[in-house]
Amino acid sequence: MTTSEQLFEKAKTLIPGGVNSPVRAFRAVGGNPLFIKSAKGPYIFDEDGNRYIELINSWGPMVLGHAFEPVEEAVREAIQHSFSFGAPTRKEVEMAELIIDMVPSVEKVRMVNSGTEATMAAVRVARGFTGRDKLIKFEGCYHGHGDSFLIAAGSGAITMGTPDSPGVTKATALDTLTAPFNDLYAVERLIDANANQIAAVILEPVVGNMGCVLPEPGFLQGLRDLCDKNGILLIFDEVMTGFRLAKGGAQERFGIRPDLTTLGKIIGGGMPVGAYGGRRDIMDVVSPAGPVYQAGTLSGNPIAMSAGLAMLRHLNEHPDVYARLEELGTRLTDGFRASMIKLGLDFTINHLGSMYTLFMTERPVANFVDAKTCDLPLFGRYFNAMLKRGIYLAPSQFESLFLSVALTDELVDQVIWANEEALKEVI
Ligand SMILES: *Cc1c(COP(=O)(O)O)cnc(C)c1O
Repeated sequence: MTTSEQLFEKAKTLIPGGVNSPVRAFRAVGGNPLFIKSAKGPYIFDEDGNRYIELINSWGPMVLGHAFEPVEEAVREAIQHSFSFGAPTRKEVEMAELIIDMVPSVEKVRMVNSGTEATMAAVRVARGFTGRDKLIKFEGCYHGHGDSFLIAAGSGAITMGTPDSPGVTKATALDTLTAPFNDLYAVERLIDANANQIAAVILEPVVGNMGCVLPEPGFLQGLRDLCDKNGILLIFDEVMTGFRLAKGGAQERFGIRPDLTTLGKIIGGGMPVGAYGGRRDIMDVVSPAGPVYQAGTLSGNPIAMSAGLAMLRHLNEHPDVYARLEELGTRLTDGFRASMIKLGLDFTINHLGSMYTLFMTERPVANFVDAKTCDLPLFGRYFNAMLKRGIYLAPSQFESLFLSVALTDELVDQVIWANEEALKEVI
């Protein structure tokens, strides 16, 4: 037994399923999860002494590569002044100022400790602000594990109003309406059927959580118009796309201003951080400025703020990072396409900037129903064939991969080669 296997066996007796977040367990791909010991730059090292090229990057945060020195340095500096005060600090003010500077629609912002907290709070704020209860989300979009969002959340049941998880009440599920991604007409019908009852439309403006799925031209603008016409708040969940698709996230890239934005992942530089922000008049309903309660003992934690600030400052001051991410994404996906032509395959690759998914289906993937046409057993074999060749992918077909600027052209070429060999092996 490898060390990872031993650790997993023991973990299963101590932790539900042996992991602290489900997808880590490799259930969708078969095999045993790797237990990770360390990571540096583009590489991750497991407990068994293997090195892999990283395409998960902690599900996004490591956009500058692992253990990026300015972030390390900032944390080292911060820990000399104690780890938490539960009182305001200078760094929180600097962090808020920087986020507002970088993200086009954010005029005021509140820090929290995870993406889940951010989306839960944003929806509460939307409900408090509008005085309405219902929510529209899209099938296959994931917004963390808050009760309201565990409805058609990436891989479960897609029936409207049916919770994906026991423990979510029917009443909660009834307040969450779902539409297919990229289907404006479906959204319009939901709005008409629930006149003056919908507080917010929430979405990943570019989806990562059913695999990478792009908004079709006009979709985001169409949602913006529908929300404006009906007094509904538009929430962009940019936990994945924020600070990744552009300095100001998908909203900058597509030129659409949501009313509220949720942030996570990159914003903490690898520390547990989230944030929600948006229009000043909306954010001013949040306690203690207004009546909508939201709080957190460790929110704005000084160590986490230091890591996040170092990360965001670097991104803010180095626009070349985004140019480089574009180059890497294009090189990798062009290489994958060339391999598929060589092998006579026609699988769908969705790609934007440093996010991509190779879908094991020939059908274009614009929503969750399309994504579910993928050959999942084939993906499992492909995943393991890549792992064998030293490439660490997300262990599910329904995930985006994330590139970091720590990758070099040579490493991307290694990934392209491994991909071609893996496809040859599993087809
Ligand atoms: C990861 C993610 C979340 C949840 O964030 P956590 O920090 O895992 O709670 C929410 N929304 C999106 C789009 C995400 O990708």
